[in-house]
This record gives sequence, structure tokens and C-alpha cells, in this order.
Amino acid sequence: MLDPAAWRDVPQEVSTGSLPGWDRVEEIVRNAHSRYRGERGGTVADYIPVLAEVDPELFGLAVIEVGGGLHDAGDALHPFSIQSISKMFVYALAIQEHGHERVREIVGVNNTGLAFNSVMAVELNDGHPMNPMVNAGAIATTALMPGATAVEQWERVREGLSAFAGRPLSLDGVVYASEAQTNDRNRALGRLLRSYGRLSGDPDEVVDVYTRQCALSVTAHDLAVMGATLADGGVNPVTGERVVSEEVCRDTLAVVASTGLYERSGDWLFEIGLPAKSGVAGGIVAVAPGKGAVAGFSPRLDEAGNSIRSQMAIGYLSRVLGLNLFASAPARREASATAPSPAPQEQS
Ligand code: GLU
Repeated sequence: MLDPAAWRDVPQEVSTGSLPGWDRVEEIVRNAHSRYRGERGGTVADYIPVLAEVDPELFGLAVIEVGGGLHDAGDALHPFSIQSISKMFVYALAIQEHGHERVREIVGVNNTGLAFNSVMAVELNDGHPMNPMVNAGAIATTALMPGATAVEQWERVREGLSAFAGRPLSLDGVVYASEAQTNDRNRALGRLLRSYGRLSGDPDEVVDVYTRQCALSVTAHDLAVMGATLADGGVNPVTGERVVSEEVCRDTLAVVASTGLYERSGDWLFEIGLPAKSGVAGGIVAVAPGKGAVAGFSPRLDEAGNSIRSQMAIGYLSRVLGLNLFASAPARREASATAPSPAPQEQS
């Protein structure tokens, strides 16, 4: 494991850049929505029975700028359950509470390369969850929430995620009941972690808090505000409230960059170049540090559980808004003029 002492005394510089003006962003968000409105690929999740009943045509997009600019298109205000996207924000709250090193030790920061509900991933790693963005790691993270009882822990999660969203979020009772009746696998993961001594507290109670956090009702607009809070050094750009520290934002986004789209996280980072988290109800939020966040909602998913239309639209927005973290251009024009030209292709 890398020892963070190597650079602990080195100040963190921040390079932000900026988005085009409000009108231009507004136009680009509308273009993104109309461009992918007709896309029909993928299927809705059905392993949580109630999710199978959702209207697959729903499609919303939202962009929130750190300066407070808001842009919504389509069904951006349609409510759906946050599902796995909650993991990212509960993880941030856990680091805020316990610090970078303790959470890293308990939960880990690496992609397992296996499905989000994999039992094998836990077994292969001696009971260590490894990845806070899949179910085992997220259950271990939820167990770190402060509170003497499960009720208090749940309140802390709900309040924390509400602060990220800038409004009180509430439980979708129908989704919660549907998942609570069918989440044998998550209960098994909770008990497996406990058997390895990796989970304190009653595993069934922790899994219940986790199931509730996944059933919080949000909109694409909410997700974009939540993501923009992580893009804005932990201050909600709409309410002005400080929710978590700058360091927590950095740590959370670093983990999400390599884990946020399940076992497709590498494909996502390669194509879109932004830390993001998706959930099986069809939401995705991508964060451009120092600039803002982009969220999509569309229920049809790929085989890994990622909304297909949201991926397409966010990919478009990442390109057109210049958000890809890995994209650069020469700092000085002369540099590009004198750059060596690529070697000629061999004729076949
Ligand atoms: N509540 C879901 C589960 O635990 C979340 C899955 C997801 O969105 O990846 O199975």
C-alpha cells in the first residue's frame, strides 16, 4: 500500500478551468436531450420487483454549475430511487466522520472487477470488501455512520444526503418494501462480512439502513446538485452550505473514478473521463471538479446495470462542455507548431 506520508506536507494545487456561459450550457443540455431521446437500447432492472414497473421512456438530464447555474431538460424532476448512487455520498460522509486512512483500511479503494452484488469478491479477499462502490463495501461503509441505533444511523444518512441535495430527501416506501422483501443476497453479504470480523453491529440492521439509503427518492436535478457539491470543494452551490471538506471530495471522486460504473468503470473513464456513479434505477451522476456536475436519468440499463441513455448523454456533454479530466491542449501555440508529426502509417 502506498504511504500517504510521502506527500502529506505538499500543498494540493487546484486547476479548475471554466464552463462556457450560461446560455451556451443551456443550449448544449437541450441538444444532448434531443439527440438521445430516441435511443431505446437496454432493459430496465427487474431484480427489485417494483423497478420493473417503471416507464422505460423517462429521460431527464441536469447540469449544475459550481457558480450556481442550473440547467434541466426532459424528465429532470421525475423522482426515482437513488440506489447505488447513495454509496458515493455515504462514503463521503464516512470519510468526513472517520478520516481518509481509517476508511481506506476498513473498506478499501480498489475495483473488484466483479458484479456489484458479488459474494465471491468478498471470499477472494479474505473478507475485505475492497470497493466501497459495490454492495459489500457499501454495507461496510454504512456501518460506519455515527449513531447509537440503526434508527439514528439512518437519520444521519438521510440528513447527510439531504444536505448534498439541498432539500429534505424522503424514503420511497414502495421501493424500500420491495427491496426489503427480496434482498437475501445483501443480507448474506452483511453476515459474511460479520463472519470475517469486518462489520460491527447487527448485520441485518446495517443492511436495513443500507436498503433504506438505496430507496431515497431523488431526481436527476437533485443528483446534479449533489454531484456539484463534490465538484465545489464540499460546499453546496445552491444552498451555500458546507457539507463535507475539500479533502473528502477529492478522496471520494478518486475512488469513484475507478469504481463508479461497476465492472464497466474502465470503459467509462476511457470514453468519458469523469468520476461518476450509477444506480440500477437508471440514474448516473458525473462530477467535473471545480466546474459542476452532470446527471442523467433513464431506466434502460446495460448488462452491468448502467443507464444506457444517461451514459450517452453524459458522454456527449463531457465532450461538448470540455469536462474530460484527461483532455489537454498545448499551453503555448508555438508548442503545437513545433510538435513532431506522427510517424507515417505503413502501407499494406
Ligand atoms: N439497492 C440495490 C442493491 O443493493 C443497489 C444496486 C445498485 O444500484 O447497484 O442491490
